[in-house]
Amino acid sequence: MDVKRLASFCQKVGIAYKTAEEYGGLAGFYDWGVRGAQIKKNVKDVWWSYFVERNELIGGMDGSIITHPKVWEASGHVGEFHDPIVKCTKCGNVYRADHLVEDVKGVNAEGLSLEELAKILKDVKCPSCGGELGDVSYFNLMFSTKVGPYEGTVSYLRPETAQLIFVDFPEHYIHMRKRLPFGIAQMGKAYRNEISPRGFLFRLREFEQMEIEFFFDPENDESPFYREIKHTKVRAKPWKGEEDVYMLDDIIDDYKGREWMIYWIYHSLKFFELVGVDMDRVRIRQQSPEERAHYSMDTWDVEFYFDDMGWKEIEGIAHRSDYDLSRHRTFSKSDKYVVRMGGRSFVPWVVEPSWGVERTILAILYSSYREDEERVWLDLKPWIAPVQVAVFPLLSRDNLPEEARRIYYTLRALFRTEYDEGGSIGKRYRRYDEIGTPYAVTVDYQTLEDKTVTVRERNTMKQERVGIDELLPYLGERMRWT
Ligand code: ATP
Repeated sequence: MDVKRLASFCQKVGIAYKTAEEYGGLAGFYDWGVRGAQIKKNVKDVWWSYFVERNELIGGMDGSIITHPKVWEASGHVGEFHDPIVKCTKCGNVYRADHLVEDVKGVNAEGLSLEELAKILKDVKCPSCGGELGDVSYFNLMFSTKVGPYEGTVSYLRPETAQLIFVDFPEHYIHMRKRLPFGIAQMGKAYRNEISPRGFLFRLREFEQMEIEFFFDPENDESPFYREIKHTKVRAKPWKGEEDVYMLDDIIDDYKGREWMIYWIYHSLKFFELVGVDMDRVRIRQQSPEERAHYSMDTWDVEFYFDDMGWKEIEGIAHRSDYDLSRHRTFSKSDKYVVRMGGRSFVPWVVEPSWGVERTILAILYSSYREDEERVWLDLKPWIAPVQVAVFPLLSRDNLPEEARRIYYTLRALFRTEYDEGGSIGKRYRRYDEIGTPYAVTVDYQTLEDKTVTVRERNTMKQERVGIDELLPYLGERMRWT
């Protein structure tokens, strides 16, 4: 399937569409509609619940989008958060130089220097007008803004949520009871002035991340979960080897914190499975040393295979050692980034899993889109579906609507439920299939006689008669994810 087709489907059913379409839209910005806003909330809720509420090692935070500009100097974003660009000297079109190399030459160009890119692009012409390309240079991706009136102070919209977790480490350490290891999770908006936003929800200028910084003592880096999960088999592409199915224990390098790296890869994959990503299209890929950020000892991307776009990163899991906390220690001149434990003073080390909300949802929607001669439907997990139960009266007369409404009022206290009496029953089923509603409850004439309704399951379209009294446990059992 192609992502463009998915995008027009999403617009049609109210999931997501270009922002301000009436004004022509704005590249890289999407709005979430009536159905999409709920899907997004559900994905974030499951993530928060899985990683924060049900994990005693993790606490949550919610940091500001604009913070002290020095934070972005310390993090390296002011100096280093840039992509290589090249401009056509004739039509003025701007391209991301590494992507252009990949498109035209079919080679992986991530991490190549400006000189290397310029050399490869020497004989390449502008794909749009055939004109000469100019020099390759860097473009910083942060959006800047001014805080306060008149000249104000220049700061930035955060390009990632992670940095706020690092800056506030002194607070977290106290409130996580001065013990290691622990993790802090955060989700929320991030902004990157991407050179060429594309791929529907894939590369945006405003998006959301769900990130965890997991802090540990490098001299005491064992994980109690290691033995249980180390033999897990995953589809993987180590940077030096071929893609194959490997045991986690066999492919993660021998460094301090490897057991936690294994832990985060394991749970990252579990989470994608839980929210309904097709795991046959998922692999983990290790970044090569040239590709990796300079501070990272090891990085594995979780990638999803799109038929038209190929393998694409939906999550990155990076070993960041003590880089970020040490930088904040130096730039803020604060010693609160150092912990004292067991007679030693040290800066904790970090493993960071970082998910994109939109890329996760893109992978979920891509995985769940179904069509046949009769209908189009989304095979969404009940905990992700925007509407979990639709309640219909068979006809809009003879007391059927009143009875259906009574059932709707009971169900909506527990499930995301909608009542609908518009159009034929067949049309109503299709309408709710399209947005992935797993169950439809229909009130018919038999209901008035024996207090039973039909419950129709979305994928099989099979109907079962269930007593009204049994509806809550019947549906409840099918909605739970653990
Ligand atoms: P890419 O190489 O695709 O630009 P990245 O390696 O810069 O991504 P990270 O900085 O590791 O991305 O960010 C973590 C996650 O945030 C990514 O795995 C992705 O899911 C999400 N993300 C990053 N940039 C964007 C974007 N422009 N639009 C949507 N999601 C994004």
